[in-house]
Amino acid sequence: MKVELISIGDELLIGQTINTNAAWLGQTLSNFGARITKTTTISDQAAEIISALNTVSNDTDCVIITGGLGPTNDDITKHTLAKHYGLALKMHQETLEHIEGYFKNRNRPMLESNRLQAMLPDGCRVLRNKNGTAAGMWINSGKQVIISLPGVPYEMKSIVEEELLPLLTNKYNPSALYYKTAHTQGIGESFLAEKIRDWEEALNADALQLAYLPSPGFVKLRINSYKGAADAEKINRYFKELEAIIPEALYGYEKETLAEVVAKLLVGQNLKIGTVESCTSGLLAHQLTTIPGASEYYQGSILSYSNALKTKMAGVDPNLIAQYGAVSQEVACAMAEGGREILEVDICVSTTGIAGPSGGTDEKPVGLVWIAIATKEKTRVKSFQFGDNRERNLTMTVAAALNFLRFELLPLT
Ligand code: ATP
Repeated sequence: MKVELISIGDELLIGQTINTNAAWLGQTLSNFGARITKTTTISDQAAEIISALNTVSNDTDCVIITGGLGPTNDDITKHTLAKHYGLALKMHQETLEHIEGYFKNRNRPMLESNRLQAMLPDGCRVLRNKNGTAAGMWINSGKQVIISLPGVPYEMKSIVEEELLPLLTNKYNPSALYYKTAHTQGIGESFLAEKIRDWEEALNADALQLAYLPSPGFVKLRINSYKGAADAEKINRYFKELEAIIPEALYGYEKETLAEVVAKLLVGQNLKIGTVESCTSGLLAHQLTTIPGASEYYQGSILSYSNALKTKMAGVDPNLIAQYGAVSQEVACAMAEGGREILEVDICVSTTGIAGPSGGTDEKPVGLVWIAIATKEKTRVKSFQFGDNRERNLTMTVAAALNFLRFELLPLT
């Protein structure tokens, strides 16, 4: 079942209102089993509505229009649709009674413009709007089903859920979209696509679709199936294969967060953790303590932004700072090792880097970050080169530190 959406409203075009209707309809209808093939946003003009209808693809089953139905903009959608499909407007008695009751219940006078809202295209199927006065309409154009809904989000949503979806189920019997999402950290979208190319090709050949959803430091991978939950097992098998291909990046599924995964590993191994943070200045500690029950594994933190405090609080040898600089492998290791003893923890993570936008040099550019993890047995350290946006660098550092930690905590690594 292919669906196109048309959002009507000047306020959407000038960015005054965010088109949440299209987002909600996209999500709701995809979950329902429809494929949204196009979304168009147009102004409140009859000519624009007609032009949008004329460009609907022939193989589209259903067009859903939102907005332009209320009295404030002269019911432009209703008049345009009636004219375009040659349907006369006729008083719809049930809708009129609903509108009269609506005003009576609220003890408000009913205007002529409200009464006229019950004039609906003859032959259309009326979709009742229990939350407002603009009824929805289902018009059979011969080629497609054209649905017109009010723009007010809560009115639109209740009509879709209570009136439209049952009718669409009867007509098209779609099987619901099933999907599962895996979370990855630390590999950029294009590198990731390169790395998992063969796996993705096998998946596509098996009638499954993969979506990449990137955000700073992370890429979500969502597998979709239009065959519904029948494909759940198959999708699980593909993700198991993916775990073996990118174990350093894939850390969880669905609503799982990286901090939660790390917390589980720490609790499972009965380990206490602490952090010594320079550039991230507490952000890593914050992430580690967003999980309820964090006191089971989290001991505390040293915020040593200045060189003096790196020495005074984390026990870093000032000669190391003088020789290698605060942003260096040596100092990152010394911070983690010093912090582990001072905080009396099993494992300690340190961060030191140049968050920017200033402070970079040729040798140590903005975005360079060192992260070290010290345990009793060993210290591991890694450098990262992020970009020049301060906020993003901090977010990416925390994500990288958590994922580095996760990988170190995994059994057999
Ligand atoms: P009326 O407001 O005249 O009753 P209507 O119900 O058809 O008409 P619109 O006039 O188009 O809807 O919009 C009513 C309200 O709904 C406005 O506040 C508008 O910003 C909001 N709205 C309209 N379209 C959308 C959309 N696509 N996403 C989010 N909000 C929307």
